[in-house]
Amino acid sequence: MGGHEEEGEGEEYLFKIVLIGDSVVGKSNLLSCFARNEFDNNSKATIRVEFRAVTPAYYRDVVGALIVYDISRRSNFDRIKRWLDELTTHCDTTVTRILVGNKCDLENIREVSVEEGKSLDEEEGLFFMETSALESTNVQTSFEIVIQEIYTNVS
Ligand code: GDP
Repeated sequence: MGGHEEEGEGEEYLFKIVLIGDSVVGKSNLLSCFARNEFDNNSKATIRVEFRAVTPAYYRDVVGALIVYDISRRSNFDRIKRWLDELTTHCDTTVTRILVGNKCDLENIREVSVEEGKSLDEEEGLFFMETSALESTNVQTSFEIVIQEIYTNVS
C-alpha cells in the first residue's frame, strides 16, 4: 500500500491484497478470473501478480485479505481460523478481510454449508461470500467489497 498520487483528474491508489488459504482451494484461479475481467472491462486497474511462498515478507503492508476455502472440502474450512491467526500475527495494521467459500459450482459434493460460512463471518467480523472461479460467480464482487472498504477507510 502507500502509493497515493494525484494526477490531474484522476487519483491513484495502490493497495496490497493477499489471497490465503490451503493449497488447491482456487486462489490462483480467483485471481486470474478477477484480473481477466478487469482487463475485459477496459478498466485502468493494474494488477501485479506475484506468487511467492507465504513468508512474513508476503504480509508486509497488507491492507486486505481474501481468506479462501473450498466448499467441497471440510478440512479447508477447519483451517480457516489458523489462517486468520497467521494474518493477525504478521499484520500490524487493520486488514480488511473477506472469507471466501470457493467452488460453489460443486453443489453436489458440498461439505460446508452457506450457514457455516456465515456464522464464522459473524463470529470473526469478516465479510463473506461464496464464489466460483470456474463460472465467474461473485469473484469480481468479492474483490470489490475489499477494495471499496479499504478505500472508505483511507479516504
Ligand atoms: P490454489 O492452489 O489455491 O492457487 O488453487 P488453484 O487456483 O491452482 O486451483 C486448484 C484446482 O481447483 C484447479 O484444478 C482448479 O481448476 C480448481 N478450481 C479452482 N477454482 C475452482 C472453482 O471455482 N470451481 C471448481 N469446480 N474448480 C475450481
